[in-house]
Amino acid sequence: MGDDFDAIVVGAGFAGCAAAIRLAQGGANTLLLERGAEPGTKNLSGGILWGHDLDPILPKWQEEMPLERHIISKRFGFLTRDKALSFEYRDDSWDRPPYNAHSVLRSRTDAWLAKKAEEAGATLVSAVPVDRLHLEGEKVRGVVQSGEVMTAPVTLVTDGYNTRTTIGTSIRKGDPPRANSGQQRLPEDHSEVGVKEVFSIDPSVLEDRFGVDGLQGRAQEWVLGFLPPGVMGGGFLYTNRVTLSLGIIVQLGSLKGRGIATHEIIERFKLHPAIEPLIRGGELLEYGAKLIPDGYSSRPDKFWGDGFMIAGDAAGFVFSNGIVIQGMSYAARSGILAAETALEAIKAKDFSARGLASYGERLIRSNVLPDFQHFEGMDRVKWNSRIFSEYPEMMTGVFHDWMTATPQGPPSLMKAGLSSARAAMKVGWRPLLQDLVDAAREV
Ligand SMILES: Cc1cc2nc3c(=O)[nH]c(=O)nc-3n(C[C@H](O)[C@H](O)[C@H](O)COP(=O)(O)OP(=O)(O)OC[C@H]3O[C@@H](n4cnc5c(N)ncnc54)[C@H](O)[C@@H]3O)c2cc1C
Repeated sequence: MGDDFDAIVVGAGFAGCAAAIRLAQGGANTLLLERGAEPGTKNLSGGILWGHDLDPILPKWQEEMPLERHIISKRFGFLTRDKALSFEYRDDSWDRPPYNAHSVLRSRTDAWLAKKAEEAGATLVSAVPVDRLHLEGEKVRGVVQSGEVMTAPVTLVTDGYNTRTTIGTSIRKGDPPRANSGQQRLPEDHSEVGVKEVFSIDPSVLEDRFGVDGLQGRAQEWVLGFLPPGVMGGGFLYTNRVTLSLGIIVQLGSLKGRGIATHEIIERFKLHPAIEPLIRGGELLEYGAKLIPDGYSSRPDKFWGDGFMIAGDAAGFVFSNGIVIQGMSYAARSGILAAETALEAIKAKDFSARGLASYGERLIRSNVLPDFQHFEGMDRVKWNSRIFSEYPEMMTGVFHDWMTATPQGPPSLMKAGLSSARAAMKVGWRPLLQDLVDAAREV
């Protein structure tokens, strides 16, 4: 008996939708399964969509997709309990097509992408939480949901990081075991948790407050330097058309035993004197939380095997340093690459691990794997607790001494120099120099 479909795609996020569109465009009889009631209802991003990774499958996406605002500047800074220090990069070329980045709301973009997959010919079925991959021996031959088996010679696993289909299987056999049950769990030192809230805002207030016109938007991100020692995280604030997206991203392992929960961190972030005026008057519309893979260290043991390929967050393809995060672009890119490999396999009728090995070559040629291997070294630099405690204090302290008038006289660069030397001695010259060398090497 023949298979139900040429290809099954599990999960209608950026990776799954991009894959399903490409597969259907290539003539494959494709089933796209989504556990949410509608695509997008379960998904969460900050979310700035960087780059042009959808171009190969949807050349007009920038005109047609429900995007929020195009980003004209990026602010990056440090917050301590009562101070803020930030740098802003603004680029006029970001203000015209082809735009560099857009703010997005996933409930709108993913629904649109899934519709594009249907228009291309894929079959979309929502409210179907796939239970597991269907195996024949060692080969993946489709999926199982509520006891029902749907078969295809190739399955694309794009169900996000908290992947029900691969956690606890040999595909992620390198994950650490749980203390009580011995079952596998995601590696918490290589995972982050993101929490996001969306606030309504009058568009004219938004334009005045953020200094933008028309559909211009801004992205702002900060290191949270006011958290309990050892807790490492960042905060973001992005402008949408008539809403603001605000959230935090915290390294999961750094929360353990520190007596603070993510809802307290986001409250402190919202109440910070530099943030509160930016969201003042906004009404909370929605909120959510989600796990995020932390780059190459959170990858599965393999990206493909007999009858399957893994793309997007499920493969760990997210670059994040706690402040800047890029996952949607890699999800789309890897989804398209997996689909192209599947189309080749359908033609060659070879769905073995060997037949699908060109997925690996594509991931290399398109820079997905080289990027992640390169970013791996960033882990040592970015998850350094000094970046989230001593350094924000040190830098804001220097600016305080440089710019604050006192009864003892006007502020001076000399005073700032002395205070930075004092602050550096507090951190210790050796760790400071080591951090500078590590950062320089990785950059
Ligand atoms: C707070 C936060 C902020 C972020 N900010 C940014 C940002 O600014 N820019 C950026 O590029 N990235 C950002 N990211 C990362 C980005 O959201 C992800 O990298 C991206 O969503 C990955 O897409 P994906 O398709 O691989 O997975 P997902 O978006 O997770 O999609 C997976 C899909 O699979 C479905 N699914 C899951 N399990 C099943 C199942 N068993 N059966 C059927 N369907 C299933 C889900 O419902 C979902 O639709 C952020 C993430 C978070 C949490």
